[in-house]
Parts: sequence; C-alpha cells; structure tokens
Amino acid sequence: MKLCEFIRPSTLAEARKALRALGPKGMPLAGGTALHFMQGKAPVAAVDITRLGLSYIKQKGAFFEIGAATPLSDIQRYRGPRWAMHEICRRISTHQVRNVSTIGGNIARVFPWADLPVVLLAMNARMVIYSGKEKEMGADEYFSSQPARLFRDGELLTAVKIPVLKAHHGFGSVKASRNAAAFSLVTVAALLELDGAVIKSARVAAGSGIPFPQRLKAAEAALVGKEARAEVFRAAAAAGGGAAKWTGGEGMSADYIRRLAEVSIFDSLERAAEFARGRAE
Ligand SMILES: Cc1cc2nc3c(=O)[nH]c(=O)nc-3n(C[C@H](O)[C@H](O)[C@H](O)COP(=O)(O)OP(=O)(O)OC[C@H]3O[C@@H](n4cnc5c(N)ncnc54)[C@H](O)[C@@H]3O)c2cc1C
Repeated sequence: MKLCEFIRPSTLAEARKALRALGPKGMPLAGGTALHFMQGKAPVAAVDITRLGLSYIKQKGAFFEIGAATPLSDIQRYRGPRWAMHEICRRISTHQVRNVSTIGGNIARVFPWADLPVVLLAMNARMVIYSGKEKEMGADEYFSSQPARLFRDGELLTAVKIPVLKAHHGFGSVKASRNAAAFSLVTVAALLELDGAVIKSARVAAGSGIPFPQRLKAAEAALVGKEARAEVFRAAAAAGGGAAKWTGGEGMSADYIRRLAEVSIFDSLERAAEFARGRAE
C-alpha cells in the first residue's frame, strides 16, 4: 500500500466529499493497522476518519451503539447491562493493536482472521452506513460477501448497533489460537434464547479456518426446540463442523481444524447457556 496523501476532515460530510472527489484513489483510514496486510502499488490518498465524532459507546433503547471509529480497547473496557463484547475484544492480538484498531476497520474490510464479524453475525447486529443519509443493514446481509464492496463511492460505516441481551438470552464466544497474540485458527460465537430449559432460537457463527465468516445453520437447526444440555450441544457441534468447509493451515490439517471447530462450538454453546441462566456474565 503506497500512501501518497493524507486528508484530515473534521465532519462526516467533509470526509464523504473528500472520498467522492478522490474516487478509487481515496480510502477511509481509521487505526491504519490493516495497511500492512493490504497489497497493491497504486497510490492511495487516505482520509482520516478518527476525528469525526465516531468514537463512542452508548446504550440507546434496545441497542448498544458503538461508533465505527471506537478502538477495540474501549470496547474491551466498557461495561453495560448484559454486555458481552469485552470477552472477544480482549482476545484480539495485543494491547498496542487493540488501542489503535477500530471496530469499523475490523469489519469494513474483512480479513480471514477477523474475529468481530463472527461475533456480530451471531449477535444479529445492525450496521449503520452513511451515504449522505444513514441506512441500516442487518448482519446477514452485511456479511453476505466482502463488506468493502459497500464503501466504493464515499460511503462510510458510522456505527454498529448490538441488541441488548434480554434476561433469557445468552452469548458465548471462543477464539482458538496458538498463543494469545496469534491470529485465530477458529473463532465461534453463539447466541441462545431459552424458554425455560428449551432453546427457542439460536444463532451460531464461525470464522477463521473457513474462507469467510458464516452462520452455521446446521448447528442452529440441531438446537432449536431441544433442551439446552451437553448431548444436544455435542450433536449441534458435529452438525456445524460437518457442514462447513474447513481449511488447514499453520501445519494443521483441515480435519484437525474441523475438530477444533467442533470443540469450540460446544464450548461457546455451554457459555451461552450459562450466560442465559445468569451464571456467567
Ligand atoms: C499484528 C496484528 C494482529 C492482529 N490480530 C487480529 C486478530 O487476531 N483478530 C482480529 O480480529 N483482528 C486482528 N488484527 C486487526 C485487524 O487485522 C485489522 O488490522 C484491524 O481490525 C483494522 O482496524 P483499523 O481501525 O486499524 O482499520 P484500518 O487499517 O484503518 O482500515 C481497514 C480497512 O477498513 C476500511 N475502513 C476503516 N474504517 C472504515 C469505515 N468506518 N467505513 C468504511 N471503511 C472503513 C479502510 O479503508 C481499510 O480498507 C490484527 C492486527 C495486527 C496489526
């Protein structure tokens, strides 16, 4: 990536105007930590989006709203009622990387190791996109393919809205990696809605170890209407593991990654059920 210009707007409208004037040469820049991973020799003009008032977390009705330029370390430190985002954020890379990387940068261009798309898919989050006016997009549509496609004409991701978990909802996530700072081998996240002992609805998502984050609908189907207990979670983990196309890497076979995924699905379901029962927030 060859940065040849750096523009520092102070309002959203100015940032959009600059990006539209620059055309394909312009690029929004948040923490800048992904530049290192982006190939290409064409000159790029960076439009800094860290001074547009997009760094905040607030509870607004049934949602937590996180500004797109909020660093992961702020999300890690934040606490709100039945807040679950801190767990995954504290597992992403190092303090230094988390202090600079933003939630928007993590999900506007999804790299194979990105953890937050998995969590936001499971949580059924909503993304807010600014193109002169704001529009919202649900996680299933937003992550249906590389989201960078949505930001080609000066559009910007401005916020992420995460539903506040209700009393009978539980969330769990697992990031399996070689060591604390390593990229994920498998990331899994699960949201369960319980009706007494029975699972009323389930969203299970995975990333890393597969080409792009996705929901594991076979695992979800194996959960709904069943009791939230270990045998059911084991069957759902096998269904989810069997349905996705896992890829090997870092000296590990695809079959090993599938098994790791199955253990991770099981663990995230157990955590989600405990959370829903109020034992692990
Ligand atoms: C050593 C290292 C290890 C890492 N490990 C992990 C890990 O294990 N798991 C993980 O999830 N992440 C990890 N990351 C972070 C991740 O890879 C990205 O670097 C980071 O999330 C990007 O955030 P940023 O704010 O720096 O984005 P930037 O680098 O500024 O931007 C990234 C991309 O998103 C676009 N963009 C940014 N914000 C917006 C916006 N609001 N609207 C539209 N487009 C936007 C930019 O144009 C660019 O294309 C790691 C990073 C490093 C350096």
